[in-house]
Amino acid sequence: MNRCRDYGKGSILNTNDDSFERSLIIIKPDGVKKKVIGEIISRFEKKDLTIEKLKMIKIDRKLACKHYQDHKNKSFFNMLIEYITSSPVVVMVISGKDAIVKARELMGATDSKKAKGGTIRGDFGDDITVNVIHGSDSAESAKREIELFFN
Ligand code: ATP
Ligand code: MG
Repeated sequence: MNRCRDYGKGSILNTNDDSFERSLIIIKPDGVKKKVIGEIISRFEKKDLTIEKLKMIKIDRKLACKHYQDHKNKSFFNMLIEYITSSPVVVMVISGKDAIVKARELMGATDSKKAKGGTIRGDFGDDITVNVIHGSDSAESAKREIELFFN
């Protein structure tokens, strides 16, 4: 048996497939406190996404400001930083076919009050700030965020 054969495009490793993506997911402080870590991971796995990396950390101010750098001029920036640094979070790298869009569909709208039932924010979120989960919004953001949290 040739153990070194090239599996190529669409292989079990999937690394040559354009639709293969990674996304950085954060289960935010309220998600951890609400005890929905397992439920959220299960929703990703049921959509055939792979949990590649996972850790629980308390995000410090410096890391939070880097992560949310695109929002630094927004009125809600300070509130966002206070919230994301308030207690431990779970940070994950998920991967699979169209992982970024699939994750955002599972998450639902940013404002939990407007998110549809059956989405993570619709089912578990409180409002626009306390909204359970973060997911990368593009391949560029995912690359930057994964390097930031898993360097
Ligand atoms: P995330 O980046 O956390 O996945 P998102 O991409 O749906 O969320 P963004 O516009 O990137 O939304 O906003 C980042 C985070 O900032 C939101 O998840 C939310 O916690 C907070 N936020 C966004 N808009 C507001 C707002 N108008 N008022 C208060 N907080 C907000
Ligand atoms: Mg965002």
